[in-house]
Amino acid sequence: AELDTLDIVVLGVILCGTLAYLTKGKFWGVVKDPYASSFQNGTANANRAGRTRNIVEKMEESGKNCVIFYGSQTGTAEDYASRLAKEGKSRFGLETMVADLEEYDFDNLDTFPSDKVAMFVLATYGEGEPTDNAVEFYEFLTGEDVAFSEGNDPALENLNYVAFGLGNNTYEHYNSMVRNVDKALTKLGAHRIGDAGEGDDGAGTMEEDFLAWKDPMWAALASKMGLEEREAVYEPIFGIVDREGLTPESPEVYLGELNKMQLEGTNKGPFNAHNPYIAPISESRELFSAKDRNCLHLDVDISGSNLSYQTGDHIAVWPTNPGAEVDRFLDLLELAEKRNNVISVKALEPTAKVPFPTPTTYDAIVRYHLEICAPVSRQFVSTLAAFAPSEEIKAEMTRLGNDKDYFHEKTGPHFYNIARFLSAVSKGEKWTKIPFSAIIEGLTKLQPRYYSISSSSIVQPKKISITAVVESQTIPGRGDPFRGVATNYLFALKQKQNGDENPTPFGQTYEITGPRNKYDGIHVPVHVRHSNFKLPSDPAKPIIMIGPGTGVAPFRGFIQERAKQAKDGVNVGRTLLFFGCRKSTEDFMYKSEWEEYQEALGDKFEMITAFSREGPKKVYVQHRLKERAKEVNELLLQKASFYVCGDAANMAREVNAVLVQLIAEGRGVTEQKAEEVVKMMRSTNQYQEDVW
Ligand code: FAD
Repeated sequence: AELDTLDIVVLGVILCGTLAYLTKGKFWGVVKDPYASSFQNGTANANRAGRTRNIVEKMEESGKNCVIFYGSQTGTAEDYASRLAKEGKSRFGLETMVADLEEYDFDNLDTFPSDKVAMFVLATYGEGEPTDNAVEFYEFLTGEDVAFSEGNDPALENLNYVAFGLGNNTYEHYNSMVRNVDKALTKLGAHRIGDAGEGDDGAGTMEEDFLAWKDPMWAALASKMGLEEREAVYEPIFGIVDREGLTPESPEVYLGELNKMQLEGTNKGPFNAHNPYIAPISESRELFSAKDRNCLHLDVDISGSNLSYQTGDHIAVWPTNPGAEVDRFLDLLELAEKRNNVISVKALEPTAKVPFPTPTTYDAIVRYHLEICAPVSRQFVSTLAAFAPSEEIKAEMTRLGNDKDYFHEKTGPHFYNIARFLSAVSKGEKWTKIPFSAIIEGLTKLQPRYYSISSSSIVQPKKISITAVVESQTIPGRGDPFRGVATNYLFALKQKQNGDENPTPFGQTYEITGPRNKYDGIHVPVHVRHSNFKLPSDPAKPIIMIGPGTGVAPFRGFIQERAKQAKDGVNVGRTLLFFGCRKSTEDFMYKSEWEEYQEALGDKFEMITAFSREGPKKVYVQHRLKERAKEVNELLLQKASFYVCGDAANMAREVNAVLVQLIAEGRGVTEQKAEEVVKMMRSTNQYQEDVW
């Protein structure tokens, strides 16, 4: 009976929504809380078609003919998957659904009907690895003896698929996920429609690569499936229901709590990527003495949780958006007055998921759940054109959405976020016609940011250190610089932890006390991600570490660990650290600590520094590496582990080149041969990167 009631509510929402839309009234906020009790489950998962792990069954029972699977780590692949789902539906009338690879089994992929299509949007993570949610899928598909339910040969003859990969060309294994999956599917007899697309984050062209790939793909798919293109009309995936009976004080209203256990204060874990731990910050300080740049050291106390970590792991920080940007956003959409109104968000179709728990408020959604500060997506600009305040602005939006060069000319240097962008296009005029559902669908979920843990788990098992540069970039022609979301939020926490009652870093405010004061100003939601970036299990093995700037973070952990081992009488191998920064007097982080480690490790430890702005010529870590070529080569021959951490774009690549060179010279082999040696070092994990 409950389901029936829900269906009626959903129908009601659609009807009211449509009416409101047709009358050019505000789309949301017209339903007056008639069925309050139906919306109180408070889970982000509105998946009502059952919890089967059988995708074929799931599609059958929910009437879908197109599934878009995503393998996502930072949310972009997931975002692209939803965009494909929306576009497939609105342009071609496909019955689409988005699916997390983790939530399905794949041994029955051979029963996937030939009149349906599966899309794979796959990010490659780190050293050519699958994202966490794609590990099982990837291992299954590329495994030695992949076996399917029916045992036919070729097994996947019926499967029609589409593939897009998200990668970074500065990595050795560029887009290896999509490449390997595509290869495996083809080998198993499946049929790819269109090209397998590849987006390149390294070149900064991800969004454009995606847009350029998808149109020919849709054309190929339309022809294969006999689809007819229709004029795209916006169809909401979410219904917004006013909950007038509730106020922000009502205990069931989410004010930024990330799940029900947080809301009810019953959270005992396990803490993970779906359930962060609200951890106290036990210590925080500034690591630079430069006037214009800041770098934070934070110790996060996990002793109150069941969280654990190992040296070399990553910690994820869940930020909140800065107050000024929340205000700007709500103001532009004329939601400022309604910011504390309570609403429920309901998936209007069974496979869609509301990306945050409700009932909640506009303020909480914008502050805690949406990436409102991120760069603007050109595709979203196209979608929003329909809701422009005037015909003139609509025409400009359409042009911006369709013309890549024009879009980049207009947005290029400005670091616009969505509200700044819309405001610039409308010259300050308010955007009152955008359905709030379009905002939820069009913006990425606010993503946790990862940090390489800069402490050793044997030295401080219950205290995780973070070393983070506060992100800030000057913008020509704009007074205030661009400021990164998470690092400036952490900066505010640092100020609070050091006694500032109302910290306003660079004039910005953050709700650091969190929903219902749950963060108390010095707590931060975190979870731990285990990584493969690890010390050799034998402490006697030599290690070589290249970590300029914040790239030194995990190496502080490594060296802390070896110093402790040495103190405990363990035989520790040679430990070489190449560190670089601008000036020894400005940004030489942990300067006095290195001396302590030196004392503990004696001549086992050597730190080799490169200060780029002290001498007449710029000196970087790769130059120092070259100077030490002979010793480095010898250590590598003794099977030293070689680690690189930090800037993926330039440094890691140049270090790789120097390494090839020094191996060629040191061993008297050709560069080609030396390249093979380096590749082998990577594949045997002798060479490990932790770059971003
Ligand atoms: P964000 O707001 O996310 O901005 C980051 C960048 O995105 C900006 O500099 C800009 O280039 C671009 N950008 C964002 N918004 C816009 C816009 N509107 N227009 C144009 N461009 C925009 N960092 C550390 O300091 N220390 C570490 O130890 C560390 N370890 C990491 C380990 C891993 C595995 C990974 C993946 C990353 C690591 N990082 C580390 C980076 C860190 O995760 C964050 O990316 C970084 O701190 C910036 O986060 P932020 O929220 O402050 O900036």
